[in-house]
Amino acid sequence: MSRVLTVIPQAWGAQALEAALGAAQQVSAGEGFAAVLICSQSSAQDAELATRAGARQVYQSVHAALGECDEPQVLVAAVAEALRAIPRLGGEVPLVLLPPGPQGEELAALLADSLDGQAVGRCVVLRFEGDALLAERTAWGGRMRVSLQVNRGPAFACLRAGRALFNIEASADIFTIELHGHLPKALTLDKRESGQRLPPLEGAKLVVSGGRGVNEQGFALLEQLALSLGGTLGGSLPAVDAGMVPVMRQVGVSGKFVSPHIYVAVGISGTLQHLAGVSLESCIVAINQDPDADIFKVANLGIVAPWEALLPALLDELR
Ligand SMILES: Cc1cc2nc3c(=O)[nH]c(=O)nc-3n(C[C@H](O)[C@H](O)[C@H](O)COP(=O)(O)OP(=O)(O)OC[C@H]3O[C@@H](n4cnc5c(N)ncnc54)[C@H](O)[C@@H]3O)c2cc1C
Repeated sequence: MSRVLTVIPQAWGAQALEAALGAAQQVSAGEGFAAVLICSQSSAQDAELATRAGARQVYQSVHAALGECDEPQVLVAAVAEALRAIPRLGGEVPLVLLPPGPQGEELAALLADSLDGQAVGRCVVLRFEGDALLAERTAWGGRMRVSLQVNRGPAFACLRAGRALFNIEASADIFTIELHGHLPKALTLDKRESGQRLPPLEGAKLVVSGGRGVNEQGFALLEQLALSLGGTLGGSLPAVDAGMVPVMRQVGVSGKFVSPHIYVAVGISGTLQHLAGVSLESCIVAINQDPDADIFKVANLGIVAPWEALLPALLDELR
């Protein structure tokens, strides 16, 4: 039995299936892996894809009550039942891979809890060295790498790898597991309009953020700047604490992670806790009156000026 197994909920679609197979292929490095397809109806097409990607065993784990349900809180019961039903994985530290992304990470953590395993989370590197599993994760917005060694399994993780390669000649043992365990009820969502004029931080191509150096009048100008450039508004923790921006717009280690093309930081000193929320790929434009502010060490473009002088002129120019 191979030591890498990938669990793929059918309701997460073809992209999740291919991403999970690509990750399993990369980590198993030609040793082969097992694939557990979680579905309400078995799919010969998905089983064939997993086989062609290098799965040596494919477990079609069918629970009729799953339907289109894609919620990790519901899926965890079905996946745990399927994992208990299949033969023990090989190696000292068996690795269970979930499709990369927020849902996969949540399911990985729930499974680790329910099956007494290790939650390794979102990894950028996963490989075996002897019996140990080595993992690398990024932290502080990609500015640091954390290396982990897992000596006791099973480990539950996600890895974003390249595209899976498919081999038409491959073959696998295909099994069907009938699942009957009780599934918790899916959460019912109550959708409402938020009343927010500005788009959310998530996915914004341009974010204009203000810090402790900016007051209420300044934030009104930052909002105008963000809107006129088709972007959105963010803030540092002190700006949130001062009530200038809602907490859902806080950028940083205890706020949101953003990866816009352009990040405009106004009256923000550039602490590590704040920068942890800004992608390394973003182009940082800093406006600060202190030429020695740390933000200028990471900014692609720095303007030494008080915002009171600069923002009105900039908005006039944009008009
Ligand atoms: C566990 C922990 C988690 C944290 N999480 C976060 C987080 O998620 N996000 C976050 O932001 N912080 C976080 N912090 C706080 C962080 O350490 C800093 O205190 C914070 O980032 C500083 O915010 P700031 O740059 O707005 O303020 P300051 O560091 O006070 O900087 C204000 C800047 O404004 C400039 N300025 C002043 N007046 C003007 C003017 N008129 N024109 C132009 N520039 C001016 C000043 O020169 C200065 O550089 C966290 C801290 C801890 C301990």
